Amino acid sequence: MAEREVILDIRDLQVHYVVRTGTIRGVDHVDLMVYQGETLGLVGESACGKSTLGRAILRLVPEPGEIVGGQILFDGQDLLKKDEKEMTSLRGKRISMIFQDPMTSLNPLQRIDQHFIETIRTHDPQISKREALDMAARMFDRLGIQRERLTDYPHQLSGGMRQRVMIGLALILNSDLVIADEPTTSLDVIVEAQILDLLKHLKEMYPMTLVLISHNLGIVSELADRLAVMYAGKLVEVAPAQPLFDEPLHPYTQGLLASVPNIRLEDTVLRTMQGAPPNLIHPPPGCRFHPRCPYVMDRCREQEPPFLKVGPERWAMCWLYEKS
Ligand code: ATP
Ligand code: SF4
Repeated sequence: MAEREVILDIRDLQVHYVVRTGTIRGVDHVDLMVYQGETLGLVGESACGKSTLGRAILRLVPEPGEIVGGQILFDGQDLLKKDEKEMTSLRGKRISMIFQDPMTSLNPLQRIDQHFIETIRTHDPQISKREALDMAARMFDRLGIQRERLTDYPHQLSGGMRQRVMIGLALILNSDLVIADEPTTSLDVIVEAQILDLLKHLKEMYPMTLVLISHNLGIVSELADRLAVMYAGKLVEVAPAQPLFDEPLHPYTQGLLASVPNIRLEDTVLRTMQGAPPNLIHPPPGCRFHPRCPYVMDRCREQEPPFLKVGPERWAMCWLYEKS
């Protein structure tokens, strides 16, 4: 297979939230590569660190969160070494993010066309308002929204339209890397399917790399070329999508897949996942999944497994795959 170009190389990333009761290790020593042009699905149960990882890439971790270690190499340059001015010029232009809740990301007092003009002209003041409006109108055609809705305020649009607008704002500057954080969470299933179709369609039109964050494996299965599975702040499995759906290796991934109604696993031990994710202030020692794992062994309770290469393009953090 031809060597693929790496657009994003996350190394040993650590993001902490220091709260009254202790330190939450939201992202705990994570290594992850994203290849140019692919769609990478980042999945896991709620509070496993997906959004924190996504936001860390843009250096937008909310307070009291702090990136305390590691590297985020984008096009070979460490984003953690850039100053705020350099990050501002990268955001939107090279890397953009589609957030979960458009209502909190859009300014309720600003018309949609003004959002587009501002986004475009902040990065390129040479573009006139007229040109920016033309760009926005053409984007609305691609988003499947009538152009006259450009002059609406956010509250005048439906939830699905607002999410389309967010996608349009993320793509308007042809970002190389787009991070979509649960882009359909607040929508009903029909609108959700339309937004996923739209993302699929836009992915074919724009040469972007997409990181799609979701707790829902069913959603990610529609779009992803590869999957990265997170559990309790750690990355526990990385694999191309189809092999992972055919044969999930990490017991957590097996449990996650078995609990998705439309992705059926034959002969799996797990049907529903026992227990709940751990508290990230005092995570279990050894393998963090051990209190819930049906294959737990003595060493799992004491020693954390390394991230093991277990096949072509496949990695899993589990002692079951250690070669003796
Ligand atoms: P969800 O799907 O619910 O958004 P997630 O997988 O994206 O979950 P994160 O939101 O990244 O997970 O949260 C990871 C950990 O960091 C959780 O324990 C969460 O409670 C904690 N956390 C996230 N944001 C904050 C914050 N602003 N202050 C304190 N702790 C936070
Ligand atoms: Fe289960 Fe042990 Fe593998 Fe953890 S390391 S997932 S406890 S078998």
